[in-house]
Amino acid sequence: MPDVVVVGAGVIGLSIAWRLAQEKITVAVLDSGAVGGQASTAAAGMLAPGGEIKRRTEWSQFALDSFRLYPSFVNELQVESDTSIEFRRCGGVELAYSENEWAQLVERAATQKLLGVPTDPVTGAPLLSLVPGLELKGLVGAMLYPEDALVDPHHLVRALHAACISRDVSVRQKMPVLALRFNSGVEVQTGEGVLHAAAAILSAGAWSSSIPIEGPEIPRCGPAKGHLLAYYLNPGSLVPILRHGETYILQRAGGFTIAGSSVEDVGFDSTVDTAVATQIAIRARRILPLPAVPSKIWTGFRPRTEVGGPQIGRYLDTPLWLAYGHYRNGILMAPGTAARVASDVIAYLRSPGAA
Ligand SMILES: Cc1cc2nc3c(=O)[nH]c(=O)nc-3n(C[C@H](O)[C@H](O)[C@H](O)COP(=O)(O)OP(=O)(O)OC[C@H]3O[C@@H](n4cnc5c(N)ncnc54)[C@H](O)[C@@H]3O)c2cc1C
Repeated sequence: MPDVVVVGAGVIGLSIAWRLAQEKITVAVLDSGAVGGQASTAAAGMLAPGGEIKRRTEWSQFALDSFRLYPSFVNELQVESDTSIEFRRCGGVELAYSENEWAQLVERAATQKLLGVPTDPVTGAPLLSLVPGLELKGLVGAMLYPEDALVDPHHLVRALHAACISRDVSVRQKMPVLALRFNSGVEVQTGEGVLHAAAAILSAGAWSSSIPIEGPEIPRCGPAKGHLLAYYLNPGSLVPILRHGETYILQRAGGFTIAGSSVEDVGFDSTVDTAVATQIAIRARRILPLPAVPSKIWTGFRPRTEVGGPQIGRYLDTPLWLAYGHYRNGILMAPGTAARVASDVIAYLRSPGAA
């Protein structure tokens, strides 16, 4: 019997499982599909407080703390998994094509400074050396976020999976969890029977609140569908993450250049909508020259809670921890979520009250 069952093998579940296993906790991770097969590998991989944290919220400090854990998280993970992870502090540049957009960026920068997110207006030659080929027509201003970074989420998932395996975590794919009940610990109902554990983690992304759980309803979570497009450009031709409103462009190693995105309330419909993809392509080409046809288009489901913000913590006084609803920033918040949940669960398991 494992000490802990983790429901969902996205970056959140795998990061928590890895941290628990490092502390000699026996862990089983169950996923209804493939490891990292949902939002975690659909993500662009921006680690972008500059671009994403627009005001102080209940979660802004948590997200920043998680961001600051990234360099050591990646280093440790590379060593344990014996794989390499593309992680770069590439910076971000946000563009304003109207006075109103610029005023908003300047106001936001003032808030961000108070939060400890560095921002710097950038113009002229320095801007063009950062982003050669940038569309300057109508440009009113640009804000540099020097600390924004990117990670390749595929590398992250591969490394987390390998690190979990090397720590004897049992990772079971195509094993949907059908229900969770509490009975001196947790009973995890799967299609192959019931698994007992002292504690469980619910990290099933956008599906988390659709799993029946004994007791009062947990905060609801659903899918916010997003499309991403990719183009092959000359490697190194775009260094920072380029942003304008809801449009962003970033380049991974090898010239794989991603343009996004959309936020759609269409349920769990994963089909590519050509009209949505075309709109993203048009928006992206307004700020950077891109080939007429993308090489790849895909979609994913961001886990978005109805209450807004992620659910991270113990569910009432049960042995279940919630770790879902990270919406647009689950890759960014994975190290922080893992640190918080793993330390809580370990404290619980080592307490006299645990099953
Ligand atoms: C288009 C797009 C772009 C994004 N870009 C970024 C970005 O640049 N930066 C960033 O930080 N974040 C980004 N995100 C958000 C990020 O991808 C998510 O917040 C994060 O991946 C959530 O991780 P997760 O592990 O909670 O969910 P998931 O990766 O979705 O994992 C949940 C897992 O649970 C499994 N599951 C579901 N039901 C069950 C069940 N009943 N039993 C067992 N397993 C189950 C699923 O199969 C899945 O593997 C983006 C998301 C999208 C869609």
